[in-house]
Amino acid sequence: MATEKTFYLETFGCQMNAHDSEKVIGTLRQQGYRQVENEEDAGLILYNTCSIRDKAEQKVFNRLNDYKKLHKAGKRFGVLGCVAQQEGEKIFERAPYVSLVSGSASYRKLPEMLTRLEAGERRITGLDDRQTEETFETEFTARQSPYRGYITIIEGCDKFCSYCVVPYTRGKERSRSSSSVLAEARSIADQGYTEIQLLGQNVNSYRDPEGKSSFAELLAAVGQVRGIRRVRFTTSHPRDFTRDIVEAIDAIPTLCDHVHLPVQSGSSRVLKQMAREYTRDWYLERISWIKAARRIISLSTDIIVGFPGETDDDFIQTMDLLAEVQYDCVFGFKYSGRPNTPALTMIDSVPEEEKARRLQVLLERQREVQRINYAKHLGEILDVMVEGVNPARGQISGRSSQNKPVNFTSAHPIAPAPGTYQQVKITGSFPNSLVGEAV
Ligand code: SF4
Repeated sequence: MATEKTFYLETFGCQMNAHDSEKVIGTLRQQGYRQVENEEDAGLILYNTCSIRDKAEQKVFNRLNDYKKLHKAGKRFGVLGCVAQQEGEKIFERAPYVSLVSGSASYRKLPEMLTRLEAGERRITGLDDRQTEETFETEFTARQSPYRGYITIIEGCDKFCSYCVVPYTRGKERSRSSSSVLAEARSIADQGYTEIQLLGQNVNSYRDPEGKSSFAELLAAVGQVRGIRRVRFTTSHPRDFTRDIVEAIDAIPTLCDHVHLPVQSGSSRVLKQMAREYTRDWYLERISWIKAARRIISLSTDIIVGFPGETDDDFIQTMDLLAEVQYDCVFGFKYSGRPNTPALTMIDSVPEEEKARRLQVLLERQREVQRINYAKHLGEILDVMVEGVNPARGQISGRSSQNKPVNFTSAHPIAPAPGTYQQVKITGSFPNSLVGEAV
């Protein structure tokens, strides 16, 4: 017999999903639930899903099938997140033992949904789609990272890039007030966190409902919260990326010298097909602002290869852009159609083997760029925030302000705690990480 008011939550997907789960866990605890480590011990099993990658829905249904055997034990099941919003009530048909289906735009109604679940209701849905203007805020966030505090500043997306499911699964853009973001930043600092990451599908679209702050002003204000040493933000959209963000990074030392600016393609023709709302030149102008900053700002990006209609020439333009920008990190993906997106109606013209070939060429070339970029740090002393310790290898891992992974050793007998800072002299480099010694 399952224990009363216990839950198990499994999370898939992006950082936004992971942080949503922190808020969901906090909300459940506030409702008297206790989190347990495995499905067998839980009265309520929740699955926070992601639909960004290929065949995500199928994976969810396979997983629910695995859970099916537990149903006999009188447990309840809930599907949260993007697949929940995307598949909606179809989930009840394919997995009749599921009692709760909720997209992220409805999480603010979770306490009410939980009460209905406890009262025995069998099919509860929270499928707000693009209706709601509200954001999900809670003071009970159960933070899982010992060193980085996440704060959502904007939910949803209004961009409708032709390949992306997010506008359909996370609803329309809703920004939180700058006062509430700053209050959360102060509360995180009071809990001992020194690093904050501001989150949103498109943080540059931030519009303060109170009309007090632009995104750059909010960033600067969070960077000046007492006790905060590092502020990161993700994800930026080139269309809305403004020069004052670079000025803020130059002016406020706590703002990390790293910008993730997804380009997706180096061809303006493909960008138009992707409905990205900018051209190659527009993007490169933003890069020139970042490169003109007084601080050296590290750049990373996302790229999709093999988008419908992408020609050899389009791909060469992407490779040229990579050579021009010299990113420190590239997340490369092969295009795959997602449900309900406009790109699905386009002819997926690039054969799978050619997509794979382009991705391999891109990653190999990028690896060479990174090998050179990372080697530039040799001999430098970097401020590294400790993220973990591997006692077996006697190695401490952390990140530089530029978001570069640094593995180092220390002569000190006591290992530093996650979230503390160490000055590290860089003695070695790889294409994806640095090596050094604490000084
Ligand atoms: S900006 Fe484009 S890719 Fe990013 S979440 Fe919105 S629709 Fe998706």
